[in-house]
Amino acid sequence: MEKTTLVWLQRELRLSHLPALQDAIAQSDKVALVYFHDPQRTLGQANSVWLAHSLLRLQASLRHKGAELLLYSGDFAQQFALALQEIEPQQVFYSVQVGQPFTEMQNLALQMCKKRQVALQPFYSEFWFTPGEVVNKQGNPYVVFTPFYKAVVDKLPALQPLDERVVTRDEDWLKLHWPQLPAERFELPLSLREIQNRPWAQKLLQYWQPGEDAAWQQLQRFITQNLSDYDHDRDFPLLDATSRLSAYLHFGEISAQAIYFELIAYAEENPQLNAQPWLRQLLWREFARLMLWFFPNTETEPFQQKFADMRWQDNAESLSAWQSGQTGIPIIDAGMRELWETGYMHNRVRMLVASLLTKDLNVNWRHGQAWFANTLLDADPANNAMGWQWVAGCGVDAAPYYRLFNPLRQSEKFDAQGDYIRKWVPELRTLSSKAIHAPWLYPQECVLKGINLGKHYPYPVVDLKRSRAQHLLRVDKLKRGGKRA
Ligand SMILES: Cc1cc2nc3c(=O)[nH]c(=O)nc-3n(C[C@H](O)[C@H](O)[C@H](O)COP(=O)(O)OP(=O)(O)OC[C@H]3O[C@@H](n4cnc5c(N)ncnc54)[C@H](O)[C@@H]3O)c2cc1C
Repeated sequence: MEKTTLVWLQRELRLSHLPALQDAIAQSDKVALVYFHDPQRTLGQANSVWLAHSLLRLQASLRHKGAELLLYSGDFAQQFALALQEIEPQQVFYSVQVGQPFTEMQNLALQMCKKRQVALQPFYSEFWFTPGEVVNKQGNPYVVFTPFYKAVVDKLPALQPLDERVVTRDEDWLKLHWPQLPAERFELPLSLREIQNRPWAQKLLQYWQPGEDAAWQQLQRFITQNLSDYDHDRDFPLLDATSRLSAYLHFGEISAQAIYFELIAYAEENPQLNAQPWLRQLLWREFARLMLWFFPNTETEPFQQKFADMRWQDNAESLSAWQSGQTGIPIIDAGMRELWETGYMHNRVRMLVASLLTKDLNVNWRHGQAWFANTLLDADPANNAMGWQWVAGCGVDAAPYYRLFNPLRQSEKFDAQGDYIRKWVPELRTLSSKAIHAPWLYPQECVLKGINLGKHYPYPVVDLKRSRAQHLLRVDKLKRGGKRA
């Protein structure tokens, strides 16, 4: 009897360094590589745009090899059942993902496979080490990053490269050919086709090129051109100093582990290079994934329970000003407009906008998380939840809740000449590098430059001194155990 394996892709949209696929090819006569698109179970809109292009690229790479990606669109449970019926696999392989909607779909798949007596095999290749391998002396997960990082670094020499032995043979790809299936299995789902044709979606993609090949090119460019200065330059939002690999990593177009092996090979050839600072950032991603693995409710609930009692103001006007880049605080507006225009925001500015929203404007971090989830191309359940909780002060290893970023000092420090602001807030471009960080403090210069505050550019939505004092009062109450701070 022919052995058939269904390889279910979620966020591993690549053909290399993918043990689920490699093992399926090695063990089976037929392999169905399947993506299930459930329009009710997507991440955000920007994320869906990248997804659409990523699937098209993957489909094109497979066709080039005489193989196919199969696409099932609609309610996940129904489509999964349909795929089992059409493909008749004896086993289903998939790479484990954390966060929603993945966890829910994984549970549904488990129930359905059990019922139909189809073997379901998870792979942990999207983690550096299988969850549970890196734990503290008590056998518990690390909830502080630095000891976690040290423990992982100690274990790295034992890490084995992901096996690539099978996919190199041309004839293997013919196992992934399914001429008997209906034509719709080979077409991009309607909702993804629609979203990728929207003008805003096309605008976002002017800045990016999804896909496995582009991911590797981006990595090479970063390693050879920017890595040596990463530690020094990475906090300056105007510089193209970081890897910009986050969306590629989220979609699994490149494997973080494969990046690690590429990095050590390059570092061996270039011994003067210090790759540690960037490796550390890559491992923040791993830390975030493990946090959701061990504490899945932290996607929506504060890791530190005492914050469950925090009372938020949730002022709709403040939220709207923040979302549309109209807070009147230039560095914040620059970041929010960069996000809207490109689907990306620099990490330093992500921290500043999140701090302003949660601490100065006292808006629940979940609103910020939801906006990012919908507008970031790299929107990722684990990184996003951890990032927001870190800034709000309620997460694992979080910034202390009494520490607020001062957006003006940060702006002066990391955008000293104001050119990042000039790029994204062009109505302020004629202001001096002093006034541009806080135009309301320089009314005469604004008048001289023809900038009418309140008309051409808003006054700040909040008095930063007062909001800081109010925030500190709130957290002080919370600290003293007062309910409803
Ligand atoms: C409030 C907030 C929300 C965030 N939401 C997301 C999100 O939805 N998706 C996302 O990928 N990142 C998120 N981040 C983390 C970080 O801002 C981005 O990963 C980074 O800016 C991406 O740019 P890069 O690829 O050039 O990063 P680089 O500096 O080149 O870092 C390399 C990779 O390491 C990982 N990484 C870097 N910093 C972090 C971090 N702080 N936490 C976790 N992983 C990290 C990313 O995968 C990144 O691509 C968030 C941060 C904050 C403060």
